[in-house]
Amino acid sequence: MSKRIGIMGGTFDPIHYGHLVLAEEVLNAFSLDKIYFIPVGKAPHKDEEKADKDMRFQMVQLATITNSNFRALSIEIDCEEVSYTINTVEKLKMGENKDDELFFITGADAILYLDSWMRFEELFSMCSFIAATRPGIDYKNVLEKIEYLKDKYGANIYPIEVPALDISSTEIRDRVRDDRSIKYLVPESVEAYIKKNNLYKKG
Ligand code: ATP
Ligand code: MG
Repeated sequence: MSKRIGIMGGTFDPIHYGHLVLAEEVLNAFSLDKIYFIPVGKAPHKDEEKADKDMRFQMVQLATITNSNFRALSIEIDCEEVSYTINTVEKLKMGENKDDELFFITGADAILYLDSWMRFEELFSMCSFIAATRPGIDYKNVLEKIEYLKDKYGANIYPIEVPALDISSTEIRDRVRDDRSIKYLVPESVEAYIKKNNLYKKG
């Protein structure tokens, strides 16, 4: 039977409660069967990641293992090339998810640049998008962009308001570097992992 699968892409450097709350809200609001967390191998638009990809993946595993609806997938980190969502979606569609409906979940910040993504028109025909509110992002611009992408390319993009958690991986890294607490911002297992591996201490 066809399933409804959410895809959470991100650097997850590190994963934090903003990501997890977003995924949980979307799972329920869109009646999804599962959410795959897929850490990026090499991001097209981002500076160098601070923690290496295996560590970012392990933190995603630790954070998702306690929720049976969440699953960590290593398809992007297993690949040496730059990760493009279109390649990931194609891989899922060629494998066990060939009959499933895919929903790519992003914070609203990503929607503004969606039409610069590799082969975005094909991507729009292969999956829908779920765009979540995120503190600091002007939602009016996002809604306008969604209308534009719908009219021009037939994209399916669903906005959703999630409880605002003003947490970012950048903020987590800054706090660790400055010896400030990250308790209650990331799962305890992730906090312990960061400490044990001495991550984010410099720069
Ligand atoms: P960085 O500060 O390094 O950019 P980040 O916190 O934005 O990290 P990413 O791994 O870049 O984390 O984000 C993955 C996805 O999760 C993106 O679509 C992003 O918009 C979304 N996201 C991250 N944090 C939040 C949050 N607090 N609320 C809603 N969405 C979020
Ligand atoms: Mg980001």
